[in-house]
Amino acid sequence: MGVDGGEEQIQERAGCEERIYVSIRLRPLNENEIARNDVSDWECINENTIIYRDNLSVSERSMYPTAYTFDRVFSPDCSTRQVYEQGAKEVALSVVSGINSSVFAYGQTSSGKTFTMSGITEYTMADIYDYIERHKERKFIMKFSALEIYNESVRDLISADSTPLRLLDDPERGTVVERLTEETVKDRNHFGELLSVCEAQRQIGETSLNETSSRSHQILRVTIESSARDFLGNDKPSTLTATVNFVDLAGSERASQTQSAGTRLKEGCHINRSLLTLGTVIRKLRKGKNGHVPYRDSKLTRILQSSLGGNARTAIICTLSPARTHVEQSRNTLLFASCAK
Ligand code: ADP
Ligand code: MG
Repeated sequence: MGVDGGEEQIQERAGCEERIYVSIRLRPLNENEIARNDVSDWECINENTIIYRDNLSVSERSMYPTAYTFDRVFSPDCSTRQVYEQGAKEVALSVVSGINSSVFAYGQTSSGKTFTMSGITEYTMADIYDYIERHKERKFIMKFSALEIYNESVRDLISADSTPLRLLDDPERGTVVERLTEETVKDRNHFGELLSVCEAQRQIGETSLNETSSRSHQILRVTIESSARDFLGNDKPSTLTATVNFVDLAGSERASQTQSAGTRLKEGCHINRSLLTLGTVIRKLRKGKNGHVPYRDSKLTRILQSSLGGNARTAIICTLSPARTHVEQSRNTLLFASCAK
C-alpha cells in the first residue's frame, strides 16, 4: 500500500492487490498502566514485525512464537493518519471506483479500536470529498447508514426507534437490513452531524444496557453512487455503486472468555459466535475460492457479505495493548491476525 495512492492508482491496483490487508497497531502505555507500574514487552522491530521481548522462560519460549509478521505493523509512536494512509486508505477509497470494502478494528477492550476507527472514518470521508470535488465530470450521491449488533440483535443508530431490525434476503441486493435508515448526505457538515447522532444513540444504548460498547459491533456504512454527466448535465446510465463499511468490533476478549451464567453467558455466546464466524469467514476467504464460506452463521457476516470476499476489499487493523497484564489477550489478537493474513 502506497502513501500517495492517487485515484488512477487505486483503480489500477484494486484488482491485483491483496484482498485482505492485515496490520497491527500497538498503542502506547496509558496513564493508568504507567501508574500501576505496568510495562510493555512488545516491540515493533520494523514495518512488518512485532516481537515479544525475549524475557520468557525456556519452557514458555517453546509454547509461544516471539516474532509475528504482518502486512504492516504500527509502533506506538505512529499517528492515526499514518495508520490510515498505510493500513486502510486504498481499501476504503476503492468505494469511489465502485468496489465494496470493509475496514475492521479488532482487539480487546481498551486496546484502541474506537480511537483508530474514528480517525480512519474521518480521513476517508475527507479524501472522498476531495475526490468528488476533483471529478466534476461525474455526479455523486452519498448515502449513510449506521447500525449496532448486540446479542445478534440489530439496531439502527440513526433512528431513535430501538426496535430490533430484521435481515431479509433480496434476490438482487443480497442481505438487506429491513427498515434501516439511509440518509442522503448533503455535505461534509451533514456527515459530521450524522456521526454525532450515532454517537448519541450509542451512548443511550450503553447506559441502559450496561457497557455495550465492549459487547457490540458497530458498522458505519457509506454508499457512493456515481454516474457520468454529459455536456448538457444530463445523467448517463453508466452508474457505479459501492459501499465502504467501517466496523468497530466488540472487544475480542468476548471471543475467548468463558462467561458466568444467565444473560452474560448468552451475551458471551452471541459475541463469541459473531467474532468466531468472522474469523472463519476470513480464513476461508484467505484460502481461496474452494469450499463453503459460512456467512450466514452470524448477523455480522450476513450484513457484510457483499463487502467481504468476491471482488470486495478488506483491511483489518488489530489493536494491541502493550501492557504486560494484557499479554494473554494480545497473543489471542495476534493469533487472530495471523490466521487472517
Ligand atoms: P477500544 O475501543 O478498543 O475499547 P479505545 O479506542 O476506546 O479502545 O481506547 C481506549 C483509550 O486509549 C482511549 O482513551 C483512547 O483515547 C486511548 N488510546 C487508544 N489508542 C491510542 C493511541 N494509539 N494513542 C493514544 N491514545 C490511545
Ligand atoms: Mg471502543
